[in-house]
Amino acid sequence: MNALAATNRNFRNAARILGLDSKLLNSLLIPFREIKVECTIPKDDGSLVSYIGFRVQHDNARGPMKGGIRYHPEVDLDEVNALAQLMTWKTAVVDIPYGGAKGGIGCDPKDLSKSELERLTRVFTQKIHDLIGIHADVPAPDMGTNAQTMAWILDEYSKFHGHSPAVVTGKPLDLGGSLGREAATGRGVVFATEALLAELGKNVKDLTFAIQVNALKSLIQEELYTLPERLFHLYAGFLQGFGNVGSWAARLIHERGGKVIAVSDISGAVRNLDGIDILELLQHKESTGSLQKFAGAESMDPSELLVHECDVLIPCALGGVLNRDNAADVKAKFIVEAANHPTDPEADEILSKKGVIILPDIYANAGGVTVSYFEWVQNIQGFMWDEDKVNNELRRYMTRAFQSIKGMCQAHNCNLRMGAFTLGVDRVARATLLRGWEA
Ligand code: GLU
Repeated sequence: MNALAATNRNFRNAARILGLDSKLLNSLLIPFREIKVECTIPKDDGSLVSYIGFRVQHDNARGPMKGGIRYHPEVDLDEVNALAQLMTWKTAVVDIPYGGAKGGIGCDPKDLSKSELERLTRVFTQKIHDLIGIHADVPAPDMGTNAQTMAWILDEYSKFHGHSPAVVTGKPLDLGGSLGREAATGRGVVFATEALLAELGKNVKDLTFAIQVNALKSLIQEELYTLPERLFHLYAGFLQGFGNVGSWAARLIHERGGKVIAVSDISGAVRNLDGIDILELLQHKESTGSLQKFAGAESMDPSELLVHECDVLIPCALGGVLNRDNAADVKAKFIVEAANHPTDPEADEILSKKGVIILPDIYANAGGVTVSYFEWVQNIQGFMWDEDKVNNELRRYMTRAFQSIKGMCQAHNCNLRMGAFTLGVDRVARATLLRGWEA
């Protein structure tokens, strides 16, 4: 089942639980606007190449639409639609005053030079600048994009509309980015995990974790954010957007004494049942470019990670990785969906029958967009928060959202995914009904 079919199915189940009428259901399901643009750029060798860019603006009942821009070969309109819809429910779950949107370009950023990426980003911005805006639609990084991408969008947008830092979030600190934004999604994953575990009388330090990362990478120190050139040299290949979430989650779990026993990324997988020293693994990855041959753990087949013995499995990479082929073999007791849509609905059913507790994506990875909201607020206020304030507020939003989800689970006797979906859909439905449809 593709991501859009799966997302629609979860939405319809939530709408049924909430008893929404069909007029409201359709209005919530159909995207506000779908944008598809051709982006042609000259490559460094002078040849022309064309890409297709998308921005889907799903819903704005609760505020400006919000969501990342993804550069990945698999980006297509269906995927962007699904991810835009997930953003609508996600912003409502954490109760920030936004709707949902998502964008993307079907390209492989690894095949593009820095100047080609800059040209592509600027052309895409030229095509959509009239449709985004501080109070309309606010992009952010997603897979394959990063703070530098946001800096280019900001610069290009500002040529048309004047300097507008709040038009994108996830910016470099020098351009009005927020302290703590780089780590926010991974940190939010850990806060979400802690909220769930606290409910069950458990603690991160007593559990084992298996973490699937896109590309494990050394974590960017906040101050490096102010040095984009150095940052590019350090993380050659523009891979910052790949692996940010999982790398931070692994590090923060390790810092809290959680035992990370298995890690995989595109270069391979490693395990050590006594726990992997994540900082050493990050250093090894940085110096060799691969997880292989790490002295502190043994190599294993990356496909084994998802079905490895552990307490908590955290998929932080692409969608659909848990499906009917592997769900029955999953041994984790908890799954924390740091990626968007990692669990296909068929897998969801199998896992739920096995009693696996799943913290769903629209809650578990909402820390990124929550700190994006803090960044936008700081830009509008013209006042910068310190990092402790950002992290403390993030914890507060994530913990509060967990309690609200739990309330929905109790009210509707449903699992956490439906608790989160009913919470998000209900909040958007209320806003829509209050605004009304009169022309
Ligand atoms: N791309 C992130 C997400 O999927 C962050 C979006 C944002 O900050 O607007 O939630």
